[in-house]
Amino acid sequence: MISKTHPRYQSLLLRDKVKNAFKEGYLADTGMIAHGRGETFDYLIGEKTTETAKKACEAAVATILLAENPVLSVNGNTTALAIDEIIELAKATDSKIEINLFYRTPERVEIITRMFKERGWEDILGTNEEELAYIDNLNSPRATASREGSYMADVMLVPLEDGDRAEVLVQNGKKIICIDLNPLSRTAKMSTISIVDNVVRAVPLMTKIANEFKESGKDKDREFLENIVNNFSNEQNLKDSLASIKLK
Ligand code: ATP
Ligand code: MG
Repeated sequence: MISKTHPRYQSLLLRDKVKNAFKEGYLADTGMIAHGRGETFDYLIGEKTTETAKKACEAAVATILLAENPVLSVNGNTTALAIDEIIELAKATDSKIEINLFYRTPERVEIITRMFKERGWEDILGTNEEELAYIDNLNSPRATASREGSYMADVMLVPLEDGDRAEVLVQNGKKIICIDLNPLSRTAKMSTISIVDNVVRAVPLMTKIANEFKESGKDKDREFLENIVNNFSNEQNLKDSLASIKLK
């Protein structure tokens, strides 16, 4: 048990979730290392959502709402840290959810599928039962693509993605939105929109923004949404994110 009074309570709680995901068998050991790298960058940005990340979240939501076939891609880390939040975002934006694992095994896919179904999300894509396709140029188990999902998707949210896959997805003409605490990662540089924030904060913020747009009817206002997207520069946003790292 982690004491709530511990000064690093929130961070330890996330660490615990990641550790349990490994023990439960749906997170690869390298997923724990990836989490450690994320923690470092989160520490450096002050473990809170910056104004810069908020702008990226707005552009991301606008892009998803303008999409024909938006897909939220989930891996072990995202499931461990933000499964309920991903389901809420999918509901708020009419997106599909697809499993995509860097180290895909039938067991990991099965556990994640079950976790989503237990929460009432039945139509999870990228499962073992499906006839999976492969995204061009990446003929490896991590390039699996659901025919209804990432194969067809025009916009994909890829939290904690690997640089190689992000590059291939962009080459295949998709708009890629990543959530990555490291503004220097290849994924962040490759993506169309890079949200430099922790997945546990960014996903609920995106849902909040989507719901606000809905309440004011702006979710259907293409001109309003296109304006947000056109006024966003990922290059500038990444520079600003880097500047928010304060080395004292
Ligand atoms: P790339 O291949 O893009 O250069 P990488 O090889 O450095 O990245 P990976 O291990 O492929 O990194 O992916 C993990 C990425 O996810 C890291 O950049 C890390 O900062 C980020 N990350 C880890 N935990 C979180 C989190 N909770 N929220 C957001 N990002 C995270
Ligand atoms: Mg990588």
